[in-house]
Amino acid sequence: MDESELSTIFWTTWWLWTIGGAIIAGIIAARKRRSPIGWAVLGALFSLIAIIIVAILPALPDEEAERRERMETRQCPECAERIQREARRCKHCGATFDPMPPRKNAGRTERAADRVSRRFGS
Ligand SMILES: [Zn+2]
Repeated sequence: MDESELSTIFWTTWWLWTIGGAIIAGIIAARKRRSPIGWAVLGALFSLIAIIIVAILPALPDEEAERRERMETRQCPECAERIQREARRCKHCGATFDPMPPRKNAGRTERAADRVSRRFGS
Protein backbone atom coordinates (compact mmCIF):
# COMPACT_ATOMS: atom_id res chain seq x y z
CA MET A 1 0.00 0.00 0.00
CA ASP A 2 1.59 3.27 -1.05
CA GLU A 3 1.16 6.66 0.48
CA SER A 4 -1.59 7.90 -1.88
CA GLU A 5 -3.76 4.86 -1.07
CA LEU A 6 -3.38 5.49 2.65
CA SER A 7 -4.22 9.12 2.07
CA THR A 8 -7.41 8.17 0.16
CA ILE A 9 -8.51 5.81 2.95
CA PHE A 10 -7.81 8.48 5.57
CA TRP A 11 -9.78 11.21 3.82
CA THR A 12 -12.66 8.89 2.92
CA THR A 13 -12.97 7.86 6.56
CA TRP A 14 -12.68 11.48 7.66
CA TRP A 15 -15.46 12.55 5.28
CA LEU A 16 -17.72 9.70 6.39
CA TRP A 17 -17.23 10.69 10.03
CA THR A 18 -17.86 14.36 9.25
CA ILE A 19 -21.00 13.87 7.13
CA GLY A 20 -22.30 11.00 9.24
CA GLY A 21 -21.75 13.00 12.42
CA ALA A 22 -23.53 16.01 10.94
CA ILE A 23 -26.54 13.98 9.77
CA ILE A 24 -26.96 11.92 12.94
CA ALA A 25 -26.46 14.85 15.33
CA GLY A 26 -28.83 16.99 13.22
CA ILE A 27 -31.57 14.32 13.23
CA ILE A 28 -31.31 13.74 16.98
CA ALA A 29 -31.36 17.52 17.60
CA ALA A 30 -34.44 18.01 15.39
CA ARG A 31 -36.30 15.26 17.28
CA LYS A 32 -35.56 17.08 20.52
CA ARG A 33 -36.73 20.41 19.05
CA ARG A 34 -33.14 21.71 19.19
CA SER A 35 -31.40 23.53 16.34
CA PRO A 36 -30.69 20.84 13.69
CA ILE A 37 -28.27 23.07 11.75
CA GLY A 38 -26.29 24.08 14.82
CA TRP A 39 -25.99 20.45 15.92
CA ALA A 40 -25.14 19.29 12.39
CA VAL A 41 -22.17 21.69 12.46
CA LEU A 42 -21.11 20.35 15.86
CA GLY A 43 -21.63 16.80 14.56
CA ALA A 44 -19.38 17.54 11.59
CA LEU A 45 -16.67 18.97 13.84
CA PHE A 46 -16.83 16.51 16.74
CA SER A 47 -18.71 13.48 15.27
CA LEU A 48 -19.30 10.98 18.07
CA ILE A 49 -18.77 13.51 20.87
CA ALA A 50 -21.49 15.83 19.54
CA ILE A 51 -23.83 12.86 18.93
CA ILE A 52 -23.37 11.65 22.51
CA ILE A 53 -23.94 15.16 23.94
CA VAL A 54 -27.11 15.83 21.92
CA ALA A 55 -28.38 12.33 22.76
CA ILE A 56 -27.92 13.02 26.48
CA LEU A 57 -29.46 16.51 26.42
CA PRO A 58 -33.14 16.57 27.37
CA ALA A 59 -35.68 17.49 24.68
CA LEU A 60 -36.85 21.09 24.73
CA PRO A 61 -40.48 21.64 25.81
CA ASP A 62 -43.11 21.28 23.09
CA GLU A 63 -44.45 24.85 22.83
CA GLU A 64 -47.36 23.84 20.60
CA ALA A 65 -48.57 21.28 23.15
CA GLU A 66 -48.16 23.83 25.95
CA ARG A 67 -50.17 26.41 24.00
CA ARG A 68 -52.99 23.85 23.48
CA GLU A 69 -52.85 23.08 27.20
CA ARG A 70 -53.23 26.79 28.00
CA MET A 71 -56.21 27.04 25.61
CA GLU A 72 -58.06 24.20 27.32
CA THR A 73 -57.25 25.06 30.90
CA ARG A 74 -57.36 28.13 33.10
CA GLN A 75 -56.00 29.12 36.45
CA CYS A 76 -58.02 28.54 39.58
CA PRO A 77 -58.76 31.97 41.13
CA GLU A 78 -58.35 30.50 44.63
CA CYS A 79 -55.23 28.32 44.49
CA ALA A 80 -53.72 29.27 41.08
CA GLU A 81 -53.48 25.64 39.88
CA ARG A 82 -54.36 24.80 36.25
CA ILE A 83 -57.88 23.38 35.91
CA GLN A 84 -60.21 22.48 33.03
CA ARG A 85 -61.76 25.48 31.33
CA GLU A 86 -65.32 24.19 31.81
CA ALA A 87 -64.80 23.20 35.45
CA ARG A 88 -67.08 24.68 38.08
CA ARG A 89 -65.16 23.19 40.99
CA CYS A 90 -61.38 23.25 41.38
CA LYS A 91 -59.96 19.72 41.62
CA HIS A 92 -57.08 21.01 43.72
CA CYS A 93 -58.69 23.17 46.40
CA GLY A 94 -62.42 22.48 45.93
CA ALA A 95 -63.33 26.13 45.31
CA THR A 96 -66.50 26.60 43.23
CA PHE A 97 -67.06 29.32 40.65
CA ASP A 98 -68.83 29.97 37.33
CA PRO A 99 -67.40 28.11 34.35
CA MET A 100 -65.61 30.21 31.75
CA PRO A 101 -67.59 31.00 28.58
CA PRO A 102 -66.75 28.56 25.79
CA ARG A 103 -63.98 29.51 23.41
CA LYS A 104 -64.85 31.79 20.46
CA ASN A 105 -64.54 29.12 17.78
CA ALA A 106 -66.74 26.74 19.81
CA GLY A 107 -69.44 29.46 19.89
CA ARG A 108 -69.14 29.99 16.14
CA THR A 109 -69.67 26.26 15.51
CA GLU A 110 -72.76 26.35 17.71
CA ARG A 111 -74.25 29.31 15.82
CA ALA A 112 -73.56 27.59 12.49
CA ALA A 113 -75.40 24.53 13.77
CA ASP A 114 -78.31 26.78 14.80
CA ARG A 115 -78.50 28.28 11.32
CA VAL A 116 -78.53 24.82 9.75
CA SER A 117 -81.32 23.56 12.01
CA ARG A 118 -83.36 26.72 11.40
CA ARG A 119 -83.04 26.33 7.65
CA PHE A 120 -84.33 22.77 7.85
CA GLY A 121 -87.12 23.84 10.17
CA SER A 122 -86.32 21.56 13.09
ZN1 LIG B 1 -58.10 25.79 43.31
